[in-house]
Amino acid sequence: MSSKAIRIHAYGGPEVMQWEDVPTPEPGPGEALVHQGAVGLNYIDVYFRTGLYKSAAMPVTLGMEGAGTVKAVGPDVSDLKVGDRVAYAGAIGAYATERVIAADKLVKLPDGIDFKTAAAMMLQGMTAQYLLRRTYRVKSGDTILVHAAAGGVGLILCQWAKHLGATVIGVVSTEQKAELARAHGAAHTIIGHANLPAEVKRITGGGMVPVVYDSVGRDTFMPSLDSLAPLGTMVSYGNASGPVPPVDISILAAKGSLFLTRPSLATYTAKRADLEATANDLFDVVRNGAVKIQVNQTFPLKDAGAAHTALESRKTTGSTVLLP
Ligand code: NDP
Repeated sequence: MSSKAIRIHAYGGPEVMQWEDVPTPEPGPGEALVHQGAVGLNYIDVYFRTGLYKSAAMPVTLGMEGAGTVKAVGPDVSDLKVGDRVAYAGAIGAYATERVIAADKLVKLPDGIDFKTAAAMMLQGMTAQYLLRRTYRVKSGDTILVHAAAGGVGLILCQWAKHLGATVIGVVSTEQKAELARAHGAAHTIIGHANLPAEVKRITGGGMVPVVYDSVGRDTFMPSLDSLAPLGTMVSYGNASGPVPPVDISILAAKGSLFLTRPSLATYTAKRADLEATANDLFDVVRNGAVKIQVNQTFPLKDAGAAHTALESRKTTGSTVLLP
């Protein structure tokens, strides 16, 4: 039996991604075979393709997120059965028609959430959950700064933060993206980061913000620090413009006794109880309508290279799904 997968044999541009026949894997102990209904596209897939993040071996099947149906389970898997609808985030190997995955990475998908929506939201939505509820606990009345506010994580952060009673200032690159961010809960938008601290000062009446969610990295690190109130929290959670260069930590004192963290979803969902709580919180806000998952682009899985090109050239908004 064979299935299809997008694999890379070397790091590089989108052209290194190959649509290949691969043997359909057998689930071993603690594993399940998932027939995938939809696959999520995430910026982390670009980092694994370029080699910014390294994979354990080559060739590697890219992709961290998907949703589908359990087709087989390994000998000792008792809490999943053939036919269960499941979803996951954070396990490399998702760009495939069928894949094997550790069963404890899977969560059962509630009725009413289809595969496309699930594949669009598990990674970006659980990220928004831990960022807003755990890394810095957003309170009603907070004014917060969100970079890439019209992106996949960004549109979810805007809606969820508004639902929590926060005022969101969204940073985007175009007026069209600014409109989209406002339509999803951003109260204010700033185009570009050239005058970011001054703009934040104007919008907050000089108070600045208690937290910045910065996924852009190199280009925005300093303007983000300068947008924080004293004792503020800098959450640097991505590198879309490149990694942040090494920092002299004494600047955190000079800029107001700031907190700096570089969190990852893997840590926040490493324990099964945390994964379930994070996913359930996400399912709740999606099912009650507080957060609407915007799948603004879909591509056939075999055209994942074109999806990467669109994502890297800032042409996408909201979430993107690859269809096997
Ligand atoms: P997005 O949909 O947000 O796409 C990236 C966006 O970043 C672009 O649309 C663009 O928005 C902005 N951007 C700014 N500068 C650049 C640049 N030089 N090149 C490309 N894009 C740029 O992607 P995702 O929602 O998938 O991910 C968002 C970020 O969150 C990524 O950095 C990702 O790594 C990170 N992330 C981190 C996680 C964690 O746990 N640490 C988990 C999930 C995601 P604009 O044009 O408006 O500037």
